[in-house]
Amino acid sequence: MHIKTLLNHVTKFEGFVFQTPRLCRKTNKLLIPIEPRRNSKPLCSQCGYPGAVYDHLNQREFLLPPIWNIVVILLYTMRRVNCEHCGKVIVEQVPWATGKSPVTKQLATFLAFWARKLSWKETATSFRVSWDIVADAVTWVVEWGLANRNIDNVTAIGVDEIQYHSGHNYLTLVYQIDRHCRRLLWIGKERKKKTLYAFCDFMGEQRCKAIEFVCSDMWKAYITVIADRFSNAVHVLDRFHIVGHLNKAVDNVRRSEVKKLRDAGKPAYLKKCRWVFLKKKKRLWGKPRARLRELLEMNLRTVKAYLFKEDFDHLWTYKSVTWANKFINQWTKDAMRHRSLPELKKFARMIRGHQDLILNYFRAKKEFSSGIVEGFNNKAKLTIRKSYGFRSDKLREIALYHTLGNLPVPEITHICF
Ligand SMILES: [Zn+2]
Repeated sequence: MHIKTLLNHVTKFEGFVFQTPRLCRKTNKLLIPIEPRRNSKPLCSQCGYPGAVYDHLNQREFLLPPIWNIVVILLYTMRRVNCEHCGKVIVEQVPWATGKSPVTKQLATFLAFWARKLSWKETATSFRVSWDIVADAVTWVVEWGLANRNIDNVTAIGVDEIQYHSGHNYLTLVYQIDRHCRRLLWIGKERKKKTLYAFCDFMGEQRCKAIEFVCSDMWKAYITVIADRFSNAVHVLDRFHIVGHLNKAVDNVRRSEVKKLRDAGKPAYLKKCRWVFLKKKKRLWGKPRARLRELLEMNLRTVKAYLFKEDFDHLWTYKSVTWANKFINQWTKDAMRHRSLPELKKFARMIRGHQDLILNYFRAKKEFSSGIVEGFNNKAKLTIRKSYGFRSDKLREIALYHTLGNLPVPEITHICF
């Protein structure tokens, strides 16, 4: 079978004919010249109308997906169109490429597919292209996906923030968390009111009105905007974030106690045992469990805080809103009574301040529980970590949409990955 037959089977470019390929043995590259069909007119790249040939430019190289790891290059001499419609001379439009990029659409979808499984760097080395080409490919596929996705019929969203650059830079991520469709919808810089307002503007009033559930953290800017723009929706403060705040409070107790013990010249029993206190007891085995037992026998502040934390877990088992409410009342009352635990008192106060929104979690029948947002959050963190060193914010966003956006992919080859 000829290479040409194989090429025609995989990709056909209307109005163009593959010429005889040749293998460059030195560089291990397969060069495939392609020419326009006789008498065919070039299409203007601005308006898409055919026009007369004005002149020819220099030959250009376009990269196709590799065959048996041999780099495949398409050689084509671009024509310029004397476009009557636009009234000027414009470079023609070819079906395999966009703009000045040497990456064909075929290679872009191919690389983008692998870049979801491997890191961008691994993708680049595996297929003998540069990192920049992988970045170009993913960018093109993501932009195509964003332009061609459907964002109607969103009824449930989760708002989450994520840190990057190991510190004080935040991104606000909005996910669709409907049962039938879960994906990253939108990314905004920072976590201010104006960030979330920008999301509302992006969705438009009609789509915002259709939203029935909003999950978010107890972050004030978010709460304000949600109350303002999604007044018809049930606003749920999700379990994942509440538990996160409680864990932080317990850890703060432990930290301050370690410091106190050290200052008083006593042995720091509590050093390096963060995980013992943060994990659930039933998930602890072996040495850490013994360590926990030993620590619980001492009447330390951290232990008290830990017991409160374990007790709080009970809240999530309630089915009735009334009982969940009673539980929160009792728990916060008990926690606030302990003068020795100001950190927990602060947490209890925060819970009380948002009690009604927390109860919405039970009203929503736990349907939009922590699991979804938490899962997305973990994946987003991993993507950010993997993309560490990305020079631009844009590429970071592209990477996030690429892994979490569940975007449609252009169908431009007969081969499905
Ligand atoms: Zn034109």
